Amino acid sequence: MKILYMGTAAAEGWPGLFCSCSICSRARREGGKNLRTRTQALLDGSLLIDFPPDTYSHALRYGLNLGDTRTLLVTHSHMDHWFPTELIHRHEHFGHGASGVLEVYGNEAVEKAFRDHILIDRFKPHPIDDVVQFRVTRGGDRIRSGGWEITAVPADHDKREECLVYICKKDGKTVFYGHDTGGNLCPEAWDMLFRERFDLVSLDATMGKKSIGGYHMGLPDVERFIQKLAERGCVDGRTVKVINHFSHNGGMTHDELAAWGAERGILAAWDGLEVEF
Ligand SMILES: [Zn+2]
Ligand SMILES: [Zn+2]
Ligand SMILES: [Zn+2]
Repeated sequence: MKILYMGTAAAEGWPGLFCSCSICSRARREGGKNLRTRTQALLDGSLLIDFPPDTYSHALRYGLNLGDTRTLLVTHSHMDHWFPTELIHRHEHFGHGASGVLEVYGNEAVEKAFRDHILIDRFKPHPIDDVVQFRVTRGGDRIRSGGWEITAVPADHDKREECLVYICKKDGKTVFYGHDTGGNLCPEAWDMLFRERFDLVSLDATMGKKSIGGYHMGLPDVERFIQKLAERGCVDGRTVKVINHFSHNGGMTHDELAAWGAERGILAAWDGLEVEF
């Protein structure tokens, strides 16, 4: 099983598009792993998680033909995770030979944004119902798609919609993909996690050295989250632990995040990181 971290930044990117803070200025100067596009991941070459505005550049950078992708999980409607307009290009008029139907899973806010952006007059000559199908998803739902067994877990994030994080299983491997979320999950969500033993956990570390008590996590929250899973035997020494979805507002460079992680057996993701487990 492999996970490819295609993008690893929070909404404004890293450096932020309009930002001249010290972290962003340094990122522009030093480049490399300090340059981050918006968060997106590909599990085992077949399960795409989130669809940010950087999806096109990710496909170029990693040499991917997304016409082969049949399952897309969307965590929530924030723009760094969901840029639905691009899906019009799966219509035969714009993209030839895409295989079968792309199944898109997301909450009602994600569905509304999809309908608002795709089902508009301008696109009426190119209906995409036979190449993209939306499946409204709620916390606790079990999904079977493309050989994957997926559980949608309610996140601790924007309360205006039911943001979801996902447990993904295939070929005897189990992954927890936890972006975006704070550490205050509801009891039902913890129960869903406590039932599993994870081969990889990918945790929100948006706030870097800070902790804001929910919505996103910082490094102290990540440690508590892992501890809570470890106490139940859900993660252990064999579990790959990754932090991801970074904001310049967390006040740490990539090297500082990586050094923090190295002391604790946690990988700090970067754009292009591929982990095999
Ligand atoms: Zn985000
Ligand atoms: Zn900045
Ligand atoms: Zn968000």
